[in-house]
Amino acid sequence: MDIHALQQENLQLKKMLNTAISEAKLNKVVLQRFIDTELQMLSCTKLTDLMSLLIKDFRQNFKLNIVTLILHNKDELVSPLLDNLSPELAKNLTLIDDPHLLSTIYPDTTFRAGEINQDFKKQLFPHNPFVLSCVLLPLINKGQLVGSLHLGAKDPNRYHSEYRYDYLERMSALLAACIDNCIIQENLAYLSSTDTLTKLYNRHSFDLEIDKALQRAGRQKQYLSLLFLDIDHFKHVNDTYGHSAGDAILKTFASILKKQLRNTDFLARFGGEEFAILLPDCKPEQAQHIANTLRVKITEQTFDTLNGAQINISTSIGVSSYFFDKNNTLSLVELARVLLNSSDEALYKAKQSGRNKVVFKEMPPASRKINSL
Ligand code: GH3
Ligand code: MG
Ligand code: MG
Repeated sequence: MDIHALQQENLQLKKMLNTAISEAKLNKVVLQRFIDTELQMLSCTKLTDLMSLLIKDFRQNFKLNIVTLILHNKDELVSPLLDNLSPELAKNLTLIDDPHLLSTIYPDTTFRAGEINQDFKKQLFPHNPFVLSCVLLPLINKGQLVGSLHLGAKDPNRYHSEYRYDYLERMSALLAACIDNCIIQENLAYLSSTDTLTKLYNRHSFDLEIDKALQRAGRQKQYLSLLFLDIDHFKHVNDTYGHSAGDAILKTFASILKKQLRNTDFLARFGGEEFAILLPDCKPEQAQHIANTLRVKITEQTFDTLNGAQINISTSIGVSSYFFDKNNTLSLVELARVLLNSSDEALYKAKQSGRNKVVFKEMPPASRKINSL
């Protein structure tokens, strides 16, 4: 071989080596991005955050034109977690009650890449007719198809059926586990904080919230008012129309209250037929006015007893208000108890004075230790 040919070959080898080095560098960057995404996925505790990470951040970081997802709404546990999804995310996420569609996308449960037929395109990228190549990744958790992740590109050469997509496959396996984790965590949190009958916050949530609300009111030097409600003669309702009618009435009662309140108010079922409402930044006069509006609303409403009869009920309401006291010596827990005691005493007076009443009771000064504590 002459020297010229050797030089040519050498040049060629150098070129190949340079290409290999730059590919390796690019792979390293891509791998790092995958690792970062996976770490972010693992740190998500809310399904909405996980969806946002995929549909927005993942799309941007990997220069995709569109990311869409399908999730199986198994036992209707997924839909309540996505109630407040932004329209941009909601547009790219489909919940399905019947998982059959998933097995039609993945007959052999492995990923698909390249072009897809028009029918699938309409189903998987309903708002993106420009998608010319894509990767479809099955989300499999504990051996079950729970969803499908779709990465779409305008470039027809971006994804090919004969290529392997190891990183993506690994990521989708992790994603399926992260989705499951979010669903379990959020449902547990929901169950432990919610009253199953009325879907309002339960007593446990109220106990946590009152401390936070007192702290905020103290810091911002604002009033915090508390309404304590108890349905009048509810035992009689149960005795006359049955326990199921009583339950239905409690549900309607709760939804009437909820409709009247601001987003910042906190409504809880305190127990039985008793309800508590925290009204932040609400002066005593305002609180009594709100209580009276609620009381009147309840008397105006007719309640269905499930057996044809419509009845009227009434509620008594005790009101009390906290305001920051610079000489306060009480802890938050003690303050909460004093505020609750005051509105409970007001409620007792409302009952004693004939029911269907609103009574206000001043909270004793927070600077003074209360004997009953
Ligand atoms: P008052 O005007 O003095 O408040 O009279 P009341 O009958 O409402 O008071 P009482 O505390 O004697 O009775 C409350 C009733 O509420 C008794 C109980 O059967 C009923 N109750 C409590 N929780 C539930 C529930 O979850 N479902 C139904 N249906 N009834 C409940
Ligand atoms: Mg009661
Ligand atoms: Mg009662």
